[in-house]
Amino acid sequence: MKVVAGVDIGATKIATGLVSLSGDVILVESASTPQRGGSLTVALLVASMIRDLLSRVGATLVAVGVGTIGPLDIRRGDVVDTPNVGLRSFKVRDPLQRELSVDVYVVNDCVAAVWGEYRVGAGVGSSNVVYVTLSTGIGCGVIVDDHLLLGKDGNAHEVGHIVLDTSGRFVCGCGGLGHWEGIASGANIPKTAKILAEEWRGPRTEAFERSLAGSITPEDLFRYWRQGDSFADYLVGFLAEVNAAGLASVINAYDPEVLTLGGSISLKNPDFTNITLSRVRKYLINRPPRMLITPLGDLAVVIGAAMMAINTPANLLKIQGGRRFSGYEDLPYS
Ligand SMILES: [Zn+2]
Repeated sequence: MKVVAGVDIGATKIATGLVSLSGDVILVESASTPQRGGSLTVALLVASMIRDLLSRVGATLVAVGVGTIGPLDIRRGDVVDTPNVGLRSFKVRDPLQRELSVDVYVVNDCVAAVWGEYRVGAGVGSSNVVYVTLSTGIGCGVIVDDHLLLGKDGNAHEVGHIVLDTSGRFVCGCGGLGHWEGIASGANIPKTAKILAEEWRGPRTEAFERSLAGSITPEDLFRYWRQGDSFADYLVGFLAEVNAAGLASVINAYDPEVLTLGGSISLKNPDFTNITLSRVRKYLINRPPRMLITPLGDLAVVIGAAMMAINTPANLLKIQGGRRFSGYEDLPYS
């Protein structure tokens, strides 16, 4: 059996899956993202994960797609100075290609996910598709007129850094003020909770005390919210409004037919996601798209990265294309 591997390199976790040439997930394995080591540590771990999966399934690898946290140097296929991993910079494409002797394509994780959505997810049949992740960070992948947006370094559409607040209270991890991610991403929710708690004049609830102490996690917050905590209700309402404004800005910029949401915050809290989506329309100029949680779930990046290897977009082939693996002509969609 011929298979491709789809790899999702996140800040805390690496997921690697074998995917059939028709897009079916066969087997997935996860590991913690190495925070120390050299420039090859991540790639060598991924290569050994793929070899392990191949030996368990008895399959032949024909190509690899990788969706990774950025920023990216798309020409080299390297991750450069990422703020969320201890290693900061590491190589992906060259060492994987050497280790596994197949073509390897490397893109931003949300770019991979939107490609998966377009080929086998909620975007099938649509020419204009946007995928947004609400997770540790906030990012998006965009297809306009059947064309996947990449950018000069592969970092097009860094929508997490759209400015949504000008009060100066919210500082993003990148250093910028008022960025969407700096207010509402999983990594920044505790900071935002503390800022709002310091301004709060209502009852001193459990969620309020935890927020003021800087010890509330996103999981805690949503639990308090479901328990009816009044400060948690205020904070969750604030975050839903910020996310709605961010999503509306993305829709106003790219005019998608379909917008899907992924990432742990969206996937673990569909009640919150639906409230967010119900608030988008009042910020729109463009006709609203179909908006939904991704049907690809937490495998959106793995599946999308695999689809990158099966049906490599023409603009990515131009940048990263080496030889195409033999049998490419037999693949669906090609
Ligand atoms: Zn920022």
